[in-house]
Formats: sequence, C-alpha cells, structure tokens
Amino acid sequence: MNKFIIYFLLFTCMIFSGCRKQNNNINYKSNPEPLLRNAYIKLPLGSVKPSGWLKSQLEAQAAGLTGNIDDFWPDLVNSSWHGGDGDAWERGPYFLDGLVPLAYLLNDSRLIEKVQKWIEPILASSSDSGWYGPTKNKDRWPLAIANKTLMQYYEATGDKRAIDVLTKYFRYLYNTPPDWPHKDWRGVRAMENAVTGYWLYRQTGEKWILETIESIQKNGADWTTYYEKFPWDSAAAVDKKIPHDGTPEGMTAHGVNNAMAIKYPGLWYQQSNEQRFKNAVFSGIEKYDKNHGQAGGRFSADEHLAGSSPNQGTELCTVVEYMFSLEELYTIFGDNRLADRLELLTYNALPGTTTPDIWSHQYDQQSNQVIVSAAKRDWSSNDNYSNIYGLMPNFGCCLANMHQGWPKFIESMWMATNDNGLALVTYGPSVVKAKVGKGKEVTITEETNYPFNGSVILKIKTENTVRFPIELRIPGWADSAIVIFKSKKVTVKGGLSCKIVEKWKDGDQISIEIPMKLRLEKRYNNSVTMLRGPLCFSLSIDKEYKSIKINYNNFSYKGSVDWEIKPKSGWNYGLLLDKGNLTRGFKVTENPVGRYPFADKGDMIWSADSAKYLVATGEAPVVITARGIKIPGWVIKNNSADVPPLSPVKPTGDPEIIKLVPYGCARLRITEFPVMDITMMEDIMR
Ligand SMILES: [Zn+2]
Repeated sequence: MNKFIIYFLLFTCMIFSGCRKQNNNINYKSNPEPLLRNAYIKLPLGSVKPSGWLKSQLEAQAAGLTGNIDDFWPDLVNSSWHGGDGDAWERGPYFLDGLVPLAYLLNDSRLIEKVQKWIEPILASSSDSGWYGPTKNKDRWPLAIANKTLMQYYEATGDKRAIDVLTKYFRYLYNTPPDWPHKDWRGVRAMENAVTGYWLYRQTGEKWILETIESIQKNGADWTTYYEKFPWDSAAAVDKKIPHDGTPEGMTAHGVNNAMAIKYPGLWYQQSNEQRFKNAVFSGIEKYDKNHGQAGGRFSADEHLAGSSPNQGTELCTVVEYMFSLEELYTIFGDNRLADRLELLTYNALPGTTTPDIWSHQYDQQSNQVIVSAAKRDWSSNDNYSNIYGLMPNFGCCLANMHQGWPKFIESMWMATNDNGLALVTYGPSVVKAKVGKGKEVTITEETNYPFNGSVILKIKTENTVRFPIELRIPGWADSAIVIFKSKKVTVKGGLSCKIVEKWKDGDQISIEIPMKLRLEKRYNNSVTMLRGPLCFSLSIDKEYKSIKINYNNFSYKGSVDWEIKPKSGWNYGLLLDKGNLTRGFKVTENPVGRYPFADKGDMIWSADSAKYLVATGEAPVVITARGIKIPGWVIKNNSADVPPLSPVKPTGDPEIIKLVPYGCARLRITEFPVMDITMMEDIMR
C-alpha cells in the first residue's frame, strides 16, 4: 500500500495534483457548459481580506499613491472618465482597476467614495449602441480595462447596473464588425476582454457571449502561434533583432503585452478544449525563463524583451500584469507551479520596485541595481529616468496601472473548490469568509508571517459543525511540509496539494509547517541567487536618497518625490559557498515585521503624522549573513553593475561578512552573485 492510500484511509486526507471531478460548486458560479470546468473558482471581491503585515501593506498603498494620486495627477484629476475634459484613454480605467479592490478589501469609506465618483459617470455613460465611457474615446482598448473594474465593482456591491452595462457592451461587440488591428493595443490585447466575457457568461449564461469571445480570439493577435514559435529568443536579443516598433511583430516583443498575453491561450482553452492552447501557456513561461529570465520569476521588459542579463530591466506594468495572468491561469488549470510563480513575483519584484511607503515607484527594476539615477542604461528602448523611484519615471502607464498588484493578489489567495470547499492558493496573513458545503458560511483566519517565516496556522470559525474539504498548496520549492489537524499529522511533498475532508467545528485549527531551507538558483554567467522560501535575497547596500524633483509642489502631502539613490558601501562581492553544504557559513535571523514590511535601514518613508520624510532604522524582516570577497574588476558600466564575471572567480582579497536582505527590501542590490573559487580557500571555509 503506497503512501497516498495510507493517508487517504487513515486521515481522509487526499494528496493529489490537478485531478478534476464532475460536480460544480453550488455556492459560487463556475463555468457552465459548454466551457470546460475551472480547476478552482475565484471568490467574489471582499471574501478574502488581508490581515497582519499584508494589511499594513495595503494600508501603505491607501496612504500612498493609490489613495492620493487622483487628487493631484492631472490625468486623473481631469479624466474624461468621470466627467472632466482630460485623458479619455487608459489611465482612468487602469487606476480604477486597482482602486476598486483596494477600497473594498480595506472597507475604507474614503476610498469607496472615490470609487463612486468614477463608477457613477461610467455607469451613466452606457449608450443605446452599448458603447460606454467618454464620448471622445473611440478605442476599444480602455474599455477592456474598464470592463474588469465593473466586474469587480459588481462583486463588491451587487449593483446590477454594472451587469447591464457589460451585457450591452458585449452586445455591441457581438453586433459590430471585428476591430482588432494587430498593430494596435486593442488588437494585441483583444483577449483581455475574455476575462470579463467569461465572467459575464458565468453570471448570465447567454451563449452569444461565447460567440463574441470566439470572434475576438479569431480576429485578435495570434499569441498561441507566437508561444509555439517564440521568435524573440535570447539569440535574437544578442543580435539586436528584437523589433522595438509599432508593427505587429514589434507589439509581440513588448514586455507588458507578453505579460498579459500569457493567459490568452489559457482563457481560450476553456472554450476550445484543445490541448494546444494549454501547452502554449506552459511552454511560453518556460521560454520566458530560458531566454529572458530574471531573478524573482520576472522576464526582462525594458520596454521590450531584452535577454537575461541582470542589468536589463523589467517594467512595473509587466510585473502586475504577469501576476494577474497567473491568478487567472490558476483558476483554469490549478497547476501549483503557477501559484509558486505568483508568490515569487508578488513577494520580490512587486515590493522591490516601489519605496516601502508606496509613494514612489520605478518604471524598470534590475536584479543587480547598484545605483538609481537619471542616466543612460542598456535598456532596449526606455529613457534615462526609468530606474528612478518617483512619481512617473519614463512614462505614466505604471503610475496608472500599478495599483492592481497587491489587492488582486489578496483576492486570489483563497479560492472555492468544485466540491464546495476552500483552497489555500498562496500563503500570507489573511482572512477568508465564504460559503462551504451546502451553503454554510465559515471564516478561516490565516495567522502567519509568511513569506518571512514558514509557519502557518489556520483558525476555523463556524456557527455549526460543517463538513467540507480544505485544500492546501504545498510550495514546489519545499521538500515537504508537515500538516497537523485534529491530532493527526501528515507529511506532504512539495508541489502537491493536501486535501483534508473533515467535519469542522468552531475553534478547529490546522497548522502547516513549511521548512524554508536556503537554496541556490543558477543564473547569468554561472552566478547564483540565494533563496529562502519564495524570497530571493540581495546584498544590502548602504544608501543615500537624494530628492531630484518634487512633483506638483502645491500638493499638500508633499509626498510625490523623485529619488535618486546612491551606494555608500561596496557592492562588487562574490559569494563564498560550500555547494555541498549550503547552510555552512550562513546565518539566518528573523526580525519582527514592521509597519512597512519591505523597509530596510536607510529607506526614506513619508510620515503623515510628522509631515516629513523619515529615515528607516529597523532591520529587514529576514537578514542572512554570509561571506563575500570583493572582485575589484567588477565595476559599473553604462550606469549599471556590469554583467557578473564568469564564475567561479579567482579570489584576490580577504573574506568579509556581508548582509543579505529580501529583494523586496533592497532598493539597491546585488541579487545575481558571482561565486568565488573556494578550492584554494578550504581553510577559510573550515
Ligand atoms: Zn508601465
């Protein structure tokens, strides 16, 4: 009898990977026929709320850019989407796509009032033809974003006017000729409409919506063939053959388009039921990693695909759109690798590219980012301001679009299962309130400091005893995890899910212990990145912030500063490693998680209480001390750390103790370290 059967019989705990049963959830709307059944069902906005440090992070967002830019950024202040005479294109809907979930996750009345200011004019704009939004906009692209905001708004409020506007708009698309030119955003991103289209079909069951989506899939850009052939590989990057123009080919090399499009074959898979479309998603992710992969699960996009050298950049829009794609794809496929990737992006790339107070953001972040300055770098096509932490470096798209990142991640941390249970998809402090079994409401509180620590406790609150399954994703980077419930103990292999079917009563608990061993990932030129759990670790470099511009000076918060950050300590270290015993010579310290979880010493943080910027003094939540040796020949080139010298590197200096902190805490960083040749240094390692 194998381990699987033993667990099943003894503990009614089933360990499985991606199997599907026939029944649909009776409490939440999953795909009706003829669509394939989803692996999981997203819970309505507001079902999952942040707690602990994740709540602090959302509160920082609300007190930072998201909660304030519409008061002073002219593109939002005067937006035609709420009756002004300004921007009528993507910026209003982008902003709203993050503001709506943020407002309802925090139940923040100030933000909800802001939402109404935008939503009411949008709802009122719906015309007889079905078109909606500002009359001067004739482009379908911003409506693809606005659709998603109405979808979320309906989930949070139940306001049926949102369903009416969306139904009329999809009727418009059904009744009018396809208008999805492959050289324009609306054509390259046409299938973004399918996110809302399938949601609307789940709400209304009207089959013509599927015909509309089929027409979009057939007339929009063909991303499936793109992923199969993948013309923009690393060789094309080296040969500078990747087009940076507005041709249909250039549009497929654009980073944000790639991050959005990775979900398009997956969305269509639900309707087509053809394996080819599923394969395109997973091979696409592999091709990004192989050809343009960056530490923390990103791919380079500055502004186009640009190879895997750690001095290339990744645009913030690319990060949040890749996250959203993974959230959508997980509901379709339920493949735990997608959730592993989602955690990687969320817990590294997202916080690493904003200041801890979320008052400033970058356009492009780098794995090896040793200086932040307005200067020329080796970007494919971005400008000199792109790695500044500021209000609107390079271009305003990220300032408008960044807000969806954290809130949508939190929305998708828990999902409903087809057998009327709940699945814990990604870890972090949260509370889920949802219907299970035959419609009973339960609350599960997840207490944890994950990803800074691997201990998780789930506390169940229920009025009556209720039998329902709870599925736990065990991260793929873990060898195994220990799950304890009702005096039973189960060991589950990393990458699998653990399904526990029990009669749960008020006060029941599940404890999950996920050991976070240090591990290495091989990167550019045989360099390495150190990881612990889903966190990448970077060299902590002493730094000095310098304000180079204050935007909209009459703004009372004075928070909108563009910062350069200069290094005040050395950065060109190679790591001393004993590959046979990785923990040798490393010391991990966990510190309390502060109000700004991704702050490190020296970061500038806006204090509304004292109306000025304060310098952070606390330690990062996890600090690893290691040993490194300076590599004198490794210097700055074109305002970035030059590519790491090919490892192993012959040591010429003395070892020093160096400090590593989570990537998200390191505004200046080395994340891809050269490795020192220690064969001649055994005495040091001993
Ligand atoms: Zn952007």
